[in-house]
Amino acid sequence: MSTSEHYDVIIIGSGAGGGTLAYKLASTGKRILVLERGGYLKRERENWDSKAIYLDGRYHAHEEWIDKDGEPFRPGAHYFVGGNTKAYGAILFRLRDTDFGEVVHHDGVSPAWPISYDELEPYYADAERLYLVHGKSGEDHTEAWRSGDFPHPPVSHEPRIQQLSDDMERIGLHPFHLPIGIDLDESDPEGSRCIRCDRFDGFPCILDAKADAHICAVRPALQHDNVSLLTHAKVERLETDPAGHAVTDVVVERHGVEQRFSGDIVVVSCGAVNSAALLLKSASDAHPDGLANSSGVVGRHYMCHLNSAVIAVSKSPNDTVFEKTLGCNDFYYGADDFDRPLGHIQMLAKSDSQILKGGAPPLTPGFTLDYVAKHAIDMWLTSEDLPLEQNRVTVDGSGRILLSYSDSNREPHRRLLRKLGGLMGHLGCHPHLLPHSVVRDKRIPIEGVAHQCGTVRFGDDPRNSALNVDCRAHDVDNLYVVDTSFFPSAGAVNPALTAMANAMRVGDHLMERMGVREHETELQEVAS
Ligand SMILES: Cc1cc2nc3c(=O)[nH]c(=O)nc-3n(C[C@H](O)[C@H](O)[C@H](O)COP(=O)(O)OP(=O)(O)OC[C@H]3O[C@@H](n4cnc5c(N)ncnc54)[C@H](O)[C@@H]3O)c2cc1C
Ligand code: SF4
Repeated sequence: MSTSEHYDVIIIGSGAGGGTLAYKLASTGKRILVLERGGYLKRERENWDSKAIYLDGRYHAHEEWIDKDGEPFRPGAHYFVGGNTKAYGAILFRLRDTDFGEVVHHDGVSPAWPISYDELEPYYADAERLYLVHGKSGEDHTEAWRSGDFPHPPVSHEPRIQQLSDDMERIGLHPFHLPIGIDLDESDPEGSRCIRCDRFDGFPCILDAKADAHICAVRPALQHDNVSLLTHAKVERLETDPAGHAVTDVVVERHGVEQRFSGDIVVVSCGAVNSAALLLKSASDAHPDGLANSSGVVGRHYMCHLNSAVIAVSKSPNDTVFEKTLGCNDFYYGADDFDRPLGHIQMLAKSDSQILKGGAPPLTPGFTLDYVAKHAIDMWLTSEDLPLEQNRVTVDGSGRILLSYSDSNREPHRRLLRKLGGLMGHLGCHPHLLPHSVVRDKRIPIEGVAHQCGTVRFGDDPRNSALNVDCRAHDVDNLYVVDTSFFPSAGAVNPALTAMANAMRVGDHLMERMGVREHETELQEVAS
């Protein structure tokens, strides 16, 4: 066991939340240590191999979690510098302003946040700049006010998707260009880092052109001498002073050896499941139900969205290369025949004929696989799930993660699928949607933890939240959580930009607490 090293700030986890916070604090001169259980994701041919990604789960965590029926499963989580953003689709949405208030759903109420959209707006703008978000303001009629336009122009539609967009508009919908975090300059294809290929969504980018937390945040943060990163450093538990008021020791397992670190401030950002698990594993006499868990909410209220991946079969061939450019929020708040929210629709990356053929379920009779491969238009549907108390993360005696989850809001999600299916005839497609073979069934199963959130929620009341409005533990003075755990509700759009923006907001609070300032000019130079 090594002797303890002391830092001003220790950040555990280098994904959307932790990586962004490291970036935000880097120029303060404070000694910052980032502890990451994974290593760097290797740049190799398999990064862009669909079998390796979708069938073999090459970059998924090598561990088992247990579901509510006691069955083990391998979670689709990514333990690398940059966390899940190494594999994410980089669709970087702001939540709607209404998502910050109470929303009445078919199955119940999703609770209000203790902060408003207006408070997060400047940080959304900062996060969009850092993560190179391309988009077009004014198109998405559900989007809230913005203090400025997107930092980069929208990624253009290819002809079949432009046609889809035109057809949608013709029948009264409001399609829009998806907000995408990508290092793409369409006006300069020679100079652009992104080559606009068909390996977007789920694939790590060999060219470092996807705006992930490793490339955009951790790498520039590490150019500051006061920031260091320890990879393969899995935090096993946090220890406190006898009264339980402050974290004194961060206990790490690294290559089979225990190491200890201490920090004036300790920030947990392991992803919603692992952060809850870490706090629960850190139970002590002072915190018998888990660290920072006097409310009993740690691990509870797990959300992950109801997601479906489907294929529309176009009547004309779809030779789109980069397909993930179009979104539709016309059913976000409901539909003509249903006054509760249904959800959000976006394009997926173009499905790969190798995968369709290697393919899992039999496709609807009447279509050949070749025909489907040439005509597929791939779509992803998301509905909000409710933060149910019984949907929760626990750990067993040996530290294994148990994830107990049951759906809510199934009816709105079914209706969203039916709505989309009903539109097909108007959009130049055959009338039936097909389940996406990659996911074997229309609904993403328990392994799909991509949009995990809610397990260490923030709030004003220490009786029903674990964190205060600054994302500091109500019970522990120097402990913060900045991954998606803090979400009291999930909205129905992708979560990462909200974690990034919030990390910047918490960064401002921490700088005030430490009495330091960031040196913006220096940061921008490092990042460029
Ligand atoms: C395939 C896929 C596609 C996605 N597409 C999108 C998208 O298009 N748009 C979007 O907004 N979101 C998307 N997401 C979700 C997005 O990636 C997450 O919301 C986001 O990364 C969450 O950030 P986080 O900081 O909470 O956790 P993560 O980014 O997962 O970071 C957690 C980090 O903590 C590390 N860690 C865990 N436990 C420990 C420990 N005990 N000790 C030390 N380190 C630890 C992990 O290795 C990881 O690096 C996608 C996710 C996946 C998997
Ligand atoms: S589309 Fe661009 S960002 Fe995506 S994998 Fe290809 S080169 Fe990388």
